[in-house]
Amino acid sequence: MTDEQGFQKPKPGFATIAVHAGQNPDKWNGAVVPPVVMSTMYKQAPEGHKGYVYSRSANPMRDTLQECLAALEGAKYAFTFASGQGATTSITSLLNKGDHLVSIDDVYGGTSRLMRENLPRHGIDVTFTDITDLDKLENAIQDNTKMVWLETPTNPNCTVVDIAATVQLVKKRGDIIVVVDNTFLTCYLQRPLDFGADIVMYSLTKYMNGHSDVVMGAAVLNSQEIADKLRIIQKSLGIVPSTFDCYQVNRSLKTLSLRMERHKATSLVIAKWLQKQPNVIEVLHPGLSTHKGHEVSKRQTSGHSGVFSFRHTGGLKESRKLLSCFKVFILAESLGGYESLAEIPSIMTHKSVPPPQKAQLGITDSLVRFSIGLEDPEDLIKDLENAFKETFNN
Ligand SMILES: *Cc1c(COP(=O)(O)O)cnc(C)c1O
Repeated sequence: MTDEQGFQKPKPGFATIAVHAGQNPDKWNGAVVPPVVMSTMYKQAPEGHKGYVYSRSANPMRDTLQECLAALEGAKYAFTFASGQGATTSITSLLNKGDHLVSIDDVYGGTSRLMRENLPRHGIDVTFTDITDLDKLENAIQDNTKMVWLETPTNPNCTVVDIAATVQLVKKRGDIIVVVDNTFLTCYLQRPLDFGADIVMYSLTKYMNGHSDVVMGAAVLNSQEIADKLRIIQKSLGIVPSTFDCYQVNRSLKTLSLRMERHKATSLVIAKWLQKQPNVIEVLHPGLSTHKGHEVSKRQTSGHSGVFSFRHTGGLKESRKLLSCFKVFILAESLGGYESLAEIPSIMTHKSVPPPQKAQLGITDSLVRFSIGLEDPEDLIKDLENAFKETFNN
């Protein structure tokens, strides 16, 4: 089932699941909104405990959020962590010394740092490759490859990876766990498990929470074998989120579908406006038919979120000028909140990418990245019109 633009329709019942899954008021003496229980320990009877013992291992608010997250993904299990990085640390802790991991080359910077600096010290080999090229992926897989890590769309170019084709190739080569970082689209716009991925990883800090006031991560999956291991990892590494943060994210999920629809619609309006500007060279937005990943996006997503980039005819001076003229857009890193942000990847989010790789990925000083928020689209366009006039004198 596709929409007017040819994208997959969002999963029926998504908004209802977001409101109700895991939220049974009978669990809380009838309270419709889950109460925040701060206690770190639970009273036991001499015969045993009633489900909860110590809140690092499990607690009612975290369970409520995890149940909701799993249901939204159509999955059996969800685990939350103190940050997206905490989720990545925990997921990669499934690997043993001597194992090999293949990651997409333009992976999120923090993921790349962990894979380059941390995993090798624990005896895990990592190969970065352009996973969009299946021949390169095939060549990168070794006999000891145990995990393939991808992100789609990537940052800041919005390169799209065909999840189904990737999984098909990887699974032919053995029992290899495929992890998809789904931070940019959320389970409302893309559900990697439906295409055969094993684990969906999130920085909930971004769209899933969407209010720029919580740092948290998650892993969502169906395999009981992996879930049993992750449950022990969550408890023993202890990279767990706070109860209050779980409350905030659980609340934010109630509006996820509404927010994502708005991010999607406004970002497409702005992408199309940018395409018409004489000083814009290219707009990297998978919702546009000119984007390389447009066809794959139509097959595996329900549209694109608010994060995308464009390239203009100027250089660093013009990028800086443009950003200094904004009155509505805020100059900041991060993404996925209700507020619109603009940044220059080459000197901000992607500053530490080595120059040759930067050049290869097209991360030049004329590339500007947006995270389109929930403001009135007309006000964002007005802000852009003014900034373009000031910067390019037209
Ligand atoms: C932010 C981000 C992360 C890391 O998450 P934190 O919550 O900041 O630790 C991982 N992947 C992607 C794609 C991100 O945008």
